[in-house]
Amino acid sequence: MGEYSLKNKVYIGLGSNVGNKSENIHKALKLMAEIKGVKINKLSSLYKTAPWGRTDQDDFINQVIEIETELSAIDLLHDLQNIEIKLGRQRNGKWSPRTIDLDVLLYGEETIDLEELKVPHPYFAERLFVLIPLAEINPGLGLPDGTKIEEVLTRARARFEGKGIIKL
Ligand code: ATP
Ligand code: CA
Ligand code: CA
Repeated sequence: MGEYSLKNKVYIGLGSNVGNKSENIHKALKLMAEIKGVKINKLSSLYKTAPWGRTDQDDFINQVIEIETELSAIDLLHDLQNIEIKLGRQRNGKWSPRTIDLDVLLYGEETIDLEELKVPHPYFAERLFVLIPLAEINPGLGLPDGTKIEEVLTRARARFEGKGIIKL
């Protein structure tokens, strides 16, 4: 899983499409700021986005944040899952409506391939609602495979024509 480092730069994707969506995002940010060993560095704008994967559900609000953390990727994932539960997330299967979804998008330069944690996030390159806010907060970001966020975003924009995402 790569060498242990005290200060890993990590990117987290937030999403909500049930209840008061922006309030859910706000509450999740507050709880993440309270995790011991996590410092929030940067917040993207909020984006209103069309549902992905299962399109028969309400629009989402999405955001991406940059944190620095001393936590291992797995410990961080577990803390994020606890926040999802605290905010009333029901597990109704993949891509179903949710009060809050917290995904680990990138963990430093690491590639992780465990059953419960895959980093970079598997659909990373297919999701404008991840790539656009990520490029907003770190346009020069390099990915573990040596590509740049701007290249991945350019390819995704060409494929998806920038549809289904509005900056709030
Ligand atoms: P998607 O992963 O396509 O965005 P989802 O967010 O709806 O879909 P969930 O139901 O929230 O999926 O999570 C399913 C499982 O994904 C979790 O139990 C978790 O162990 C696993 N998982 C694998 N990689 C990651 C990651 N990078 N961040 C968060 N969860 C992950
Ligand atoms: Ca997700
Ligand atoms: Ca998730």
